[in-house]
Amino acid sequence: MADYVKMWEDLGMDINNHDNLCQVLPTAVGDVFMTQENRPKAMDFWDMVIAEVHGIRPAELIEEQKKGRKVFGTFCVYVPDEVVIAANGIVTGLCGGSQFWVPDGEKVLPKNMCPLVKASVGARLGRTCPFFRIADMYVGETTCDGKKKAYEILGKDVPMHIMDVPQMKREKDIVKWKDEIADFAKVVEDFTGNKVTPEKLAEAIKICNEKRKAMQRVYDCRKSKCLPISGRDALLMTQISFFDDPVRCAQMCNRLANELEQRIKDGVSVVPEGTKRILITGTPLAVPNWKLHNIIETSGAAVVCEEMCTGTRYFENLVDESGETLDEQFMNLSRRYMKTNCACFTPNTGRIDDILRMVDEYQVDGVIDCSLMFCCLYDTEKRAVAEALKEKNIPVLSLETDYTDTDAEQLRTRIGAFVEMLSK
Ligand code: SF4
Ligand code: SF4
Repeated sequence: MADYVKMWEDLGMDINNHDNLCQVLPTAVGDVFMTQENRPKAMDFWDMVIAEVHGIRPAELIEEQKKGRKVFGTFCVYVPDEVVIAANGIVTGLCGGSQFWVPDGEKVLPKNMCPLVKASVGARLGRTCPFFRIADMYVGETTCDGKKKAYEILGKDVPMHIMDVPQMKREKDIVKWKDEIADFAKVVEDFTGNKVTPEKLAEAIKICNEKRKAMQRVYDCRKSKCLPISGRDALLMTQISFFDDPVRCAQMCNRLANELEQRIKDGVSVVPEGTKRILITGTPLAVPNWKLHNIIETSGAAVVCEEMCTGTRYFENLVDESGETLDEQFMNLSRRYMKTNCACFTPNTGRIDDILRMVDEYQVDGVIDCSLMFCCLYDTEKRAVAEALKEKNIPVLSLETDYTDTDAEQLRTRIGAFVEMLSK
């Protein structure tokens, strides 16, 4: 591993504490990913990135900053990357997915708050994540209450812009989100010193659409009965896509999709015939949260789809590329982003429609609906999700977990019993 200590020191990181994280991550990567057999060769790219996740991409971002580019850190799939890219800025995802960051978050937040929020705040305030140090501006959104309050705390430490996400999806809400996107464009212009022109925005929309199409190609391969990639590997690809350069991300996903399509033609599967196929739905699984996938896939089943923000919600639906004026383009962006179905909206029946559609598309045997502890939005929706699935005779298991390993055995027992039941 290259020596990034000087870079981390220059970022003002807590080197001693960060060393503890660096020690546990390689073991986790080894246990979850390297123990798998017959992995696609194209996973070598994501293996390399995850092996040096706090080194390779942060070093690239710092090089770009030296050229005058600004880095925007985001926490939610509603924030339109296109606007930042049009102003020659860079977007990086910032959601914290490790228990390692939670205690630092709990110093300023209530303990009974979702671990994603606590970890995200802890990663910044504990100075143990380079991405949280590098971002010049954070972009928050008014989705859940926990995030809204956390942004007030983070905003005292770093420049912060908050986008006001509507709570409903009426036409007037779509227009409101368009106005929010236009306001965001002004903020990005001021911060970067670069104008968002219709030409630049059209280019950025194309870049993001190409990335979405490439990710969709990989997911389309997961619909095949001959399963050419594990859920763990697909999840890693999706998680890293939040951090990567979008053009390279599309190239790498297309390279992977080429290999997977060939595997399907050649009948190469990563699991034995008849392995039960699971769709996971619920709250996002930020890096390095691989707990659920790892348990499911070491319990004899395979994850074939994630109806999650670290899954289909991130790349489904393209932005209409026909807009010629900024006003038209902002509206097209709004329409695409407002198709995403998050539990922070009311009503949110579109998510259930999505789950039912994906159960068919991905030839799913059972659904696991898993939310992070203290996420009352997704927890509350579990009932409606379960009812809709039961009506169609699709087995469903509802779970709640956090980032610790304390419930791992209990989860293993429940998931094992669910998989066994599917096999009967
Ligand atoms: S679950 Fe909702 S709030 Fe969280 S990232 Fe997804 S869209 Fe945003
Ligand atoms: S998982 Fe739920 S509580 Fe946590 S950040 Fe997302 S919406 Fe908010």
